[in-house]
Amino acid sequence: MSSPTGSCSETLDGHYDYVVVGCGGIGSGTLYWLARTLGQTKRILGLEQFELGHSNGGSQDYSRIVRLMYHVEAYTKLAREAMDAWHIVEQEAEHKLVDHCGSIQLTEKGSPFMVDTVQAAIKQGMKYEHLTGSEFNRRYPQFKVDDSVEALIDPEGGLVDAAQANAVHVALARQRGATVVDKCKVFRIQQQSASRLYEIATSCGKVTADKIIVTAGAWANQALGNFGVHVPLTITQEQVQYYATPHIQDFLPAKFPVWIWVHDNLSFYGLPIHGIMGVKIAIDCGGAAVTADQRSFTPDKLNTEKTDEFVKKFFPKAYGPKALVKTCLYTMPPDRNFVVDTLAGYGHPNVSVCVGGGHAFKFASVLGKVLTDLSTKGRTATDIALFSLYRTALTDPNYPDLCRQFSIEAVETKSKL
Ligand SMILES: Cc1cc2nc3c(=O)[nH]c(=O)nc-3n(C[C@H](O)[C@H](O)[C@H](O)COP(=O)(O)OP(=O)(O)OC[C@H]3O[C@@H](n4cnc5c(N)ncnc54)[C@H](O)[C@@H]3O)c2cc1C
Repeated sequence: MSSPTGSCSETLDGHYDYVVVGCGGIGSGTLYWLARTLGQTKRILGLEQFELGHSNGGSQDYSRIVRLMYHVEAYTKLAREAMDAWHIVEQEAEHKLVDHCGSIQLTEKGSPFMVDTVQAAIKQGMKYEHLTGSEFNRRYPQFKVDDSVEALIDPEGGLVDAAQANAVHVALARQRGATVVDKCKVFRIQQQSASRLYEIATSCGKVTADKIIVTAGAWANQALGNFGVHVPLTITQEQVQYYATPHIQDFLPAKFPVWIWVHDNLSFYGLPIHGIMGVKIAIDCGGAAVTADQRSFTPDKLNTEKTDEFVKKFFPKAYGPKALVKTCLYTMPPDRNFVVDTLAGYGHPNVSVCVGGGHAFKFASVLGKVLTDLSTKGRTATDIALFSLYRTALTDPNYPDLCRQFSIEAVETKSKL
């Protein structure tokens, strides 16, 4: 893990109109949309405690799934806007970030999750194909499934090159005049009583700001604490396995889509070969609860064993030595829905926040756009009602933590009962 302190490349001072705290996927998206919206007319600053492109948070990898299909309509709606946002960024950068290799959702036959996803797709007028397990097998012989499962194909889904998307957002923000400083940790934020400006103390110096956007991922509560706000968040250490299959032709995006396989116990997901010669396969939300600063980067053996078992059974041709096993953090509210809001209810309307729920990368650009709306206008045309900072899941201390019910630990314990 890289050290956040003592290595500033520049000294900071002066006043900024907008300061973004945290330049992972969502923070870099926000910097882009702020700069795109305000251009050179406002001073915009992004602060990142580690070096840009670091692997200590939630956003750094070769690829992330993008899909329109969701079992909740609010996300299906947002996913359309997300895709449009990626295309705007691609157009401006003159560089392709999204590969529409298709996205698959697999579930047990008759699963309520599938029913809800189909309903949301119909309501949003999405194109999709709904196949039985054996029809699906014929279409994609890389999978070995039977009719106990069913599949939904979203032809517009695919993958986004996460590392490049972050770098592109930052580059375009800088091109439009924003300042982005890495190896610069925000230690303290205080509102000055006379001017109402925020004074931000960092490892590289002090600045003042009119408006702040907190996109600090697993460190969100440390930043929010400056405003007297605490969000119940579970942070887990997840991991992905890249299998160096000998059958590379079968697992390139031209032939192999991204997929999620939602189970009542462990759920898995995977992506085709992209950026590294390996098929990416992982358990969703199976990892142990950790804190951002006290986590290991050591892959969990049981997680790898469970994934190996799954791959050998359902994707035998994908199996091979590991090209890479990489750990990463999920940061999740108890209902796994995002937080996208202002801190107006806490007396800070000029501070906005976004926390993903372990599935936010596909929305990184559009969330940056929404945060720009909130920060510049105090409102957005995007439907973000589900993501309120003031919802019951965040305010009721007895709200159940839905994130942990399908962790490897919980599933193992259940199987022993
Ligand atoms: C293994 C894995 C697989 C995933 N797969 C998918 C997928 O396929 N599709 C999908 O949509 N989503 C996926 N996700 C989820 C998605 O990647 C995250 O929801 C998203 O990237 C979170 O972005 P973020 O900007 O909120 O957090 P981060 O990327 O962690 O960024 C927060 C940043 O804030 C910085 N920061 C924090 N505090 C301070 C401070 N005080 N001063 C300065 N800087 C600070 C941190 O250093 C960090 O860089 C996956 C996540 C993981 C871990």
